[in-house]
Amino acid sequence: MPEQNPQVRAKNFLEVPLGYTPEMAVREASRCLQCKKPACVEGCPVGVKIPEFLKLLKDGDFAAAARKIKETNALPAVCGRVCPQESQCESRCILSKKSEPVAVGRCERFVADFERRVCAENPVDMAHLGGTAPSVPKNGKKIAVIGAGPAGLTVAGDMIQRGYGVTVFEAFHKPGGVLMYGIPEFRLPKTIVENEVQNLVKQGVVLELNQVIGKTISIDELLNNEGFDAIFVGVGAGLPMFLGVPGEDLNGIYSANEYLTRANLMKAYRFPEYDTPVAQGKHVCVIGGGNVAMDAARVARRLGAADPNGDANTVKIVYRRSREELPARQEEVHHAEEEGVELLLLTNPQEFLGDEAGRVRAMRCCKMALGEPDASGRRRPIPVPHSEFELETDCVIIAAGALANPLLTKNTEGLTLNKRDYVVADETTGRTSKPRVWAGGDIVTGAATVILAMGAGRAAAKDMHAWLDGGGQRGNEPW
Ligand code: FAD
Ligand code: SF4
Repeated sequence: MPEQNPQVRAKNFLEVPLGYTPEMAVREASRCLQCKKPACVEGCPVGVKIPEFLKLLKDGDFAAAARKIKETNALPAVCGRVCPQESQCESRCILSKKSEPVAVGRCERFVADFERRVCAENPVDMAHLGGTAPSVPKNGKKIAVIGAGPAGLTVAGDMIQRGYGVTVFEAFHKPGGVLMYGIPEFRLPKTIVENEVQNLVKQGVVLELNQVIGKTISIDELLNNEGFDAIFVGVGAGLPMFLGVPGEDLNGIYSANEYLTRANLMKAYRFPEYDTPVAQGKHVCVIGGGNVAMDAARVARRLGAADPNGDANTVKIVYRRSREELPARQEEVHHAEEEGVELLLLTNPQEFLGDEAGRVRAMRCCKMALGEPDASGRRRPIPVPHSEFELETDCVIIAAGALANPLLTKNTEGLTLNKRDYVVADETTGRTSKPRVWAGGDIVTGAATVILAMGAGRAAAKDMHAWLDGGGQRGNEPW
């Protein structure tokens, strides 16, 4: 797939891959062998009918291909961009045994983008294409969704289609969850997420933004005073983890969560036009080796490159294991390195050092060696004696993982949490320990993927509907 040139794109926030042309998409779809037992479908968490949509794409019926995907995946333009296809459908494609698998994700993205373009140009075609579905008669029951990430938005879409009144409560001023505040614009343009949310609003979903449920109003008040028949909790895993080393509270040190939220959601890169500032470091260090670290590093690179003086910054990923153990997708590492991000491997920060004004000026690090595999199966990093050194830095971004978002769960009686503070919910139905409350996505599984969050939302919506439609109401819960 064509991409923006790395030198050019390191200075802008425009999308990196440019997408297939129709000819490329048809050619790629033609490689599919139309397997009788398609292993690719087994590798897809929501079971997209891959050979069927590829056949329609190959035949040039792009609209029908879009409809086919939407039978099982409500957000194909998102998933075509951010799903880890190399470990899902594409890893199972029969062709991967001898050569390259069919590029299922890129084909999905092409079809979804085609649908969006035609819908935008010709709204009357929307229902036909599966864009905005026709409105459904109301059944008089209403549900609340807490959290407007992929899990919550999927529940909202499925329940409005079944005739329920749906209100989505979101803590931020914009819906989309990590799709909006975490994944950068150059990987997932915000207009795509906004478009999907608008489709829901057009179908009648009510959005209540800037509402921190558990603080402004509780789940029990929603159920008992506000007349909601059932609730879905999809509040994600947005609590950042820190390293716990001295100096971590110096100015100029951010969690990746805060840094990306400022940059993506609050447009810090257009300060002072948008009034959220963020440090534009000259020597940025990102601690961690996952996808979130790569996203933060690539944003930092762009922010530094956008410096009015024109001098590019240095951005280093500081990771305590070796390249083989990097948890990030290879494609992300490749993109980051192409854009000039450096990898400082087998290195661990031990202390952050500040200047007189309380700003970070350096990091004291030590070199690491790899020992025997630990519980995660990866070789354990061990400090090398007497290897300490100082690394100059004026901006540090810590991408060391995320924990359950506690704002709602800690303030809700009767909701059982596991020992890591995630909500305990049935794997197939999403039912929690609290009557009339379902949950799904990262707040149940821990930080996972967009498609798994959507899959959990779909399963919960199905079960919620089965219960409410079967006469379920307060007092006769099967819990
Ligand atoms: P979230 O997306 O976290 O949404 C939860 C929503 O609930 C948020 O909008 C939050 O503001 C809101 N909320 C929280 N508390 C409350 C409250 N008390 N009241 C009201 N609202 C509340 N996955 C991939 O598949 N591919 C990727 O490329 C990828 N990249 C990622 C990059 C980053 C930087 C991050 C952080 C994650 C990435 N992920 C990726 C993971 C993926 O985004 C998540 O697994 C997914 O978004 C989880 O969806 P969710 O709906 O459970 O939660
Ligand atoms: Fe096509 Fe590969 Fe799926 Fe077979 S496994 S149906 S070749 S995409």
